[in-house]
Amino acid sequence: MSELATALFDEIKKGYLCHSYLLEGGSPAERLALAKNIASAILCEKKSIDGSPCFCCNACLKIKNNIHPDVSVRGLDIPDTGTFGIDKIRDVRSEAYILPNESDYKIYILVSAEKLTTQAQNALLKVFEEPPKNVVFILLAPFRTSLLPTVISRAKIYTLQSDSKNILSAELAEKHPEFSDVFSKRISGLMSALAKTNFSDTEYTLYREAFDLCELFFISPVECRLIEKLPRKREDMICFLDVLSLAVRDILLYKKGAGDNAFILVGENELNKASSRFSMKKLISLYDKFFECSVRLESFGNVNTMISELSFLTA
Ligand SMILES: [Zn+2]
Repeated sequence: MSELATALFDEIKKGYLCHSYLLEGGSPAERLALAKNIASAILCEKKSIDGSPCFCCNACLKIKNNIHPDVSVRGLDIPDTGTFGIDKIRDVRSEAYILPNESDYKIYILVSAEKLTTQAQNALLKVFEEPPKNVVFILLAPFRTSLLPTVISRAKIYTLQSDSKNILSAELAEKHPEFSDVFSKRISGLMSALAKTNFSDTEYTLYREAFDLCELFFISPVECRLIEKLPRKREDMICFLDVLSLAVRDILLYKKGAGDNAFILVGENELNKASSRFSMKKLISLYDKFFECSVRLESFGNVNTMISELSFLTA
């Protein structure tokens, strides 16, 4: 069991149970596994002294086999390009106020919470504001910034660690040895920036726009002239270039068969599209340029010079 899970079990045992959790980081499978373990820790009939579930009692087995009447996993059926709409949250809302069937708690695991529409998130927020007694929500998303700040502020957030950085380092060491170390450091820095707790509205908007640009540039069939979309303010541009680098990393990971560890471009469909559009060589050269420009900007390089250099690469 991971350190994170152990810490969570301990909190639950001590009675620090929250109405809403957000699990970010890791792969979709890792997030779901941890969510189900939390459900087991809450409902287990034979918890051990440290709070960890037994994984073999009636409740634990039902959770494992997805047949526990009080543990509901929602959002698994959403296609890559689909959204987690308000209708699904309305269903949850109307059920959440009905008492549990056979245990003390009802648990809703919302996978792909990053696909929740703004309307759906606002509907969810109403439940969070006046949570029904004995109901626990566990939201799963690659990173918290895909959710509204108001939703994030009401959830207890846990960040899963992933070994994807190592996978990528190996990949890059092979293809492009001179900067694999710098790349990993840079990526770690951005990941911790994205994992911080209190985003200002400005930061939040900035990251959202950067993510949107990644989708547009790497996935959308419509031609995207990157340089026209990049912000002209130095710090903003650095942020955009770093997020773009991270998206390149996702595509490289996918090519390597490790798409589960993607961070910005999540979803088989998206990664597949991006992967077929960009060769390994192109990706490496894109990363090289994004990284170089970002570093030069940090040491007060000229924004316009960077723009003109990037224009050759992405034209
Ligand atoms: Zn059990």
